[in-house]
Amino acid sequence: MRMELLTDGVYQLGAGMVNSYIIDGDEGVTLVDTLVRGREGAIAQNLKEIGRSLADVRAILLTHSHMDHTGSASAVKAASKARVFASEADTPAIQGVEKPPNPPTYWYWRPMFWPAVFFAAPPVEVDHFVTEDAKEVLPGDLRAVDTPGHTPGHTSYLLDRAGGVLFVGDAAVATKDGRVKRVAFNRSTPEVDGSLRHLAELEFEIAAFCHSKPIRTQASGAFRRFAESLTSPRRPTRT
Ligand SMILES: [Zn+2]
Repeated sequence: MRMELLTDGVYQLGAGMVNSYIIDGDEGVTLVDTLVRGREGAIAQNLKEIGRSLADVRAILLTHSHMDHTGSASAVKAASKARVFASEADTPAIQGVEKPPNPPTYWYWRPMFWPAVFFAAPPVEVDHFVTEDAKEVLPGDLRAVDTPGHTPGHTSYLLDRAGGVLFVGDAAVATKDGRVKRVAFNRSTPEVDGSLRHLAELEFEIAAFCHSKPIRTQASGAFRRFAESLTSPRRPTRT
């Protein structure tokens, strides 16, 4: 599986369509999301390339309950004894207590999504609830940022490294020319916009998304421009 270095010790797994992230640090490895089901072997291979193994994974941070993010969490946890972090609101779906919503229909036409469609994510036990106010439980220099809207408890994570790396999750995607936009399927668009306004208040250099390429420089500026576009009045039309 393709792996790309974002900054010191931070790697993107995947090629832009479905991404997860490795954060390598003194206290071990943290994963942000885990791709679809059955990708633990590929994750292990990528870890090997940086001199790590699944046993080094100490924490799995889940941005939300969808199966293309939680798919391999159970297998990685079993191989590593990592602690799993997620929001309380998304935990019933992650633990399999609640049935996740049906996948969007366009997934059926894209072979890359078939594993997610036909093999739902195995449930995984969540060890710690994350909220923005309880950042002390997170490993290393990470903190949670509440970004509900895509799912009820969607959470982004901010790493204090290289000017700030924001793991956006599905709170947004980046366009090819580096603008921020909403993902296609959200539970609540007004809630997503509120979350994007909130992200626009933070400072970070790099933004790492689950379904697009990253923004590598001055990423918080791209979020601010999106937030401003929500509030700026429409241009008057000439008559
Ligand atoms: Zn999602």
